[in-house]
Amino acid sequence: MMEVEEGNFDEAYDVYACMQCGKCTGSCAVSLRSDLNIRELMRIAILNKNEDLEKHEEIWDCTSCGICTVRCPRDLKPAEVIIGMRSSLVEGGTIPVTVRDALESVGTNNNPWGRPKSKRAEWLEDLDVKVKNISEGEEAEYLLYIGCTASYDPRIQSVSRAAINVLTKLGVDFGILGEEEPCCGSEPRMMGETGLFEMLVEDNLTLFDEFGISKIITLSPHAYNTFVNDYPECAKRLKEDDVEIPDIELEVKHYTQFLEELIDDGRLDGEMMNEFSGTVIYHDPCYLGKRNNIFEPPRKILNIIPGARCIEFDRREDRSLCCEGGGGRMWAEGTGTGERNAIIRVNDANQDGANVIAVACPFCLSTLEDAHVTAGYEETMRVMDIFEILDEVLK
Ligand code: SF4
Ligand code: SF4
Repeated sequence: MMEVEEGNFDEAYDVYACMQCGKCTGSCAVSLRSDLNIRELMRIAILNKNEDLEKHEEIWDCTSCGICTVRCPRDLKPAEVIIGMRSSLVEGGTIPVTVRDALESVGTNNNPWGRPKSKRAEWLEDLDVKVKNISEGEEAEYLLYIGCTASYDPRIQSVSRAAINVLTKLGVDFGILGEEEPCCGSEPRMMGETGLFEMLVEDNLTLFDEFGISKIITLSPHAYNTFVNDYPECAKRLKEDDVEIPDIELEVKHYTQFLEELIDDGRLDGEMMNEFSGTVIYHDPCYLGKRNNIFEPPRKILNIIPGARCIEFDRREDRSLCCEGGGGRMWAEGTGTGERNAIIRVNDANQDGANVIAVACPFCLSTLEDAHVTAGYEETMRVMDIFEILDEVLK
């Protein structure tokens, strides 16, 4: 993450090294059906024409999947250039009203969904097991970081409850922060609200320090990515600016990594599970796969489930088709026309013979759940988070 003064794209992102080869645009699944053309946006950055950015509504189509950055032969960061462009637009106040509302809601409610902070832990009401609340002084080895979407979205709340059930059955010493849990800031950062993100980093590190939290398990790859990749860089910059933030080292794992370790330690295996009936296809989320090269852990978990017949998408791992849920896309309408990627994905899964799409990300669950209903697979296919599958099978 970089702080960019308006008109300074060339220095901040080394855009003159761009040879306009177009590999970024060629790899961008969004550009197939929207006006988004990342090579063209790089050209605009090279020409330093950032004063015209408000004409480029398609800047909000980017899902921040990161594949353009992975594929760039010059090791540039086109996905970051878009975030820099969004920052300019945020600073100038020329942003879609839905994005503005989401960002304002993070500032006032600590979540982009416009829901009150006091309702953040409502999903706990339907749970039978007792969960430690670290913010109430209870001690635990791990913080289970739920995140905004899994706290408020009724469909995704089921993943939060499944996570509690599974981790409890596995004897993990964990707690949550309940109503005190903050927004991690991933979506504000991707939407270009750098100032708000910095504020969240400062507040959240202070909060983690206050409650003695150093080990975090996340439900969302987006929270994982921001804690692991964005927080250290932002904290370093804040310290250079003499902002007082605690010196804490966080050990952060996405839950699939954590469960993989339990498998390796012999604390989770197929004998602890009832049979699962289904042909399961795993959808790699961009923020685990493309951005962080985490491909194996979710597959390892699915492969030990008795009765689950695991198959693969043709477009998988770093070629996985983005579901279009990340990078603030949940709050921006976008210029896209034609078939959404999520619809293409559920059709592919159906053609491949899957009746369960397994996911490991709240945004993937939300987009693919919606798509499987729209595409008419409600009766024949289930979209499930891996935690939900485990909750169903664990004895
Ligand atoms: S892939 Fe890299 S070098 Fe090629 S056009 Fe895109 S940003 Fe420029
Ligand atoms: S981050 Fe993904 S969606 Fe955004 S421009 Fe790059 S490839 Fe396209």
